Amino acid sequence: MVEDNLKIILKELPPGVKLVAVSKFHPASDILAAYNAGQHRFGENRPQELAAKVPALPDDIEWHFIGHLQTNKLKFVLPYASLVESIDSLHLLEAVDKWGNEHGKVIDVLLELHLGAEETKGGFTQDEIETILSRSMSDFPHVRFRGLMGMATNTDDMSVVEADFARIEAFKRHLDEKFQLPDFTELSIGMSHDWPLAVKHRATIVRIGTAIFGPRTY
Ligand SMILES: *Cc1c(COP(=O)(O)O)cnc(C)c1O
Repeated sequence: MVEDNLKIILKELPPGVKLVAVSKFHPASDILAAYNAGQHRFGENRPQELAAKVPALPDDIEWHFIGHLQTNKLKFVLPYASLVESIDSLHLLEAVDKWGNEHGKVIDVLLELHLGAEETKGGFTQDEIETILSRSMSDFPHVRFRGLMGMATNTDDMSVVEADFARIEAFKRHLDEKFQLPDFTELSIGMSHDWPLAVKHRATIVRIGTAIFGPRTY
């Protein structure tokens, strides 16, 4: 079933758009089934869950961290994640840079734009992101800014979702023109119910869970 679901999505996904299979709350055996079907990039949103799964699964998996990260949990994430998609505060960004300094690593990150209508959703304002990027080179030497992440408003009204995606797409283009950062190439938008629309708005990464692994039980 996981294999069939993957096949359906990969058939529709344009080449060059990376699929993150969001495996949170699903056991390592489900991840291995997807791995054996050729999917080697997975996303987790809870630090301890990621740290527990890594040693149980193949070494060449590319893990993305996509959840809220507290600064006292960095050790569960930063040794393993090849991309931290969900940097949502200056405090976290500074802690990640400090961890990179202490461990002799440069951490690849996306900056999360507060995109959806929900106040409860995390992320920076557009102004905050511009301020960070104008400081980036000198202030965060152990962080590599790879692009933007956003979660659209949680609604069935696709015109609302599309407006969210159009806003982050336009903002990404604005940042590209203003800062011209060669590594700032990624736009991570789109989940199970809205990823085709995200692709239309130039997603380079889609994060799909339910449509691959089925509903989460929690
Ligand atoms: C859970 C999650 C997803 C995947 O959601 P689905 O609707 O199951 O595809 C994508 N992005 C983030 C940040 C998530 O937490």
